[in-house]
Amino acid sequence: MKAVVYKGHGEIALEERPKPELIEETDAIVKVTLTTICSSDIHIKHGAVPKAVPGTVLGHEFVGVVTETGSGVKKVKPGDRVSVNVETFCGECFFCKRGFVNNCTDKDGGWALGCRIDGGQAEYARIPFADNGLTVIPDHVTDEQALFNGDILSTGYWAANIGEIKPADTVVVIGAGPTGLCTMMCARLYSPARIIAADTDEYRLNLAKERGLADITLVSGRDDIEKEIRKVTDGRGADTVFEVAGGDDTFEMAWKIARPNGIVAVVAMYEKPQILPLPDMYGKNLVFKTGGVDGSFCREIMDLTACGRLDASFLITHRCSLDDIMTAYDIFENKRDHVIKYAIRV
Ligand SMILES: [Zn+2]
Ligand SMILES: [Zn+2]
Repeated sequence: MKAVVYKGHGEIALEERPKPELIEETDAIVKVTLTTICSSDIHIKHGAVPKAVPGTVLGHEFVGVVTETGSGVKKVKPGDRVSVNVETFCGECFFCKRGFVNNCTDKDGGWALGCRIDGGQAEYARIPFADNGLTVIPDHVTDEQALFNGDILSTGYWAANIGEIKPADTVVVIGAGPTGLCTMMCARLYSPARIIAADTDEYRLNLAKERGLADITLVSGRDDIEKEIRKVTDGRGADTVFEVAGGDDTFEMAWKIARPNGIVAVVAMYEKPQILPLPDMYGKNLVFKTGGVDGSFCREIMDLTACGRLDASFLITHRCSLDDIMTAYDIFENKRDHVIKYAIRV
């Protein structure tokens, strides 16, 4: 079968690989129907994910049809249309029992798919702990609507949850890329007074506004973001700030624009260490939260998709087949042609 393989040293390639087989009785094999590229794949390519193992098939955000299940799989069966969770988790260890599935202590636990074990930029994928890692897609939900369930939508949903948003709060999302837009969409579920989106890319900000995800948009480098946020919060700052950009100065922006006792949720994956200047923020009494999504909400997200409350399919700006995925990587990595997300037919 065809698969995108991480070769190490900044290199990836579309290669011929053997079709995966069941290994554990809790595994399932999924025939991939639609897959996508995530910015985490680009981080792997750049060598910025130390856990990534060269030789691994990439891809951790995809949907497909179950073709085989091990004898221990109870919740899914061959023929089921499913979305795949970015995280693999046993459901039984200390962390899983508390919902912290990103830190599952199983050898394949956490973000393993498309990083340490073969993922879904391929014709088939083996899914360990299939009962936990697969979510059945209702008939009236399309593959495109379900594509982001297990990764960026899970991340937005988890972020909004740890952001502890109260009704009528002011929420700032720094970064209007795919995950930032999902974070805004999920933050809406908590009825904040306003969502302010900040980014360098006006096209993405306009999309956030058009889609009703952001009430106010601020362009980094053009607008005085700190001043504008103080203006709409009686000088206090934002109640919750989501840092979803991972830029050179966005971590600093995040804590500066948060109000005293506010929450700063760091969702971004940085390629470089960040500085936490504690003397400058002393007395501000901020709460920092960092992640690693705990992808344990796929069922809820699917239910919200099925009833029309969450629909991330508008993020798909580009479509192609698996044969053309290397061109898609080039366009996605270099943010050409206003790309937000690809849907790649397999
Ligand atoms: Zn991802
Ligand atoms: Zn576990």
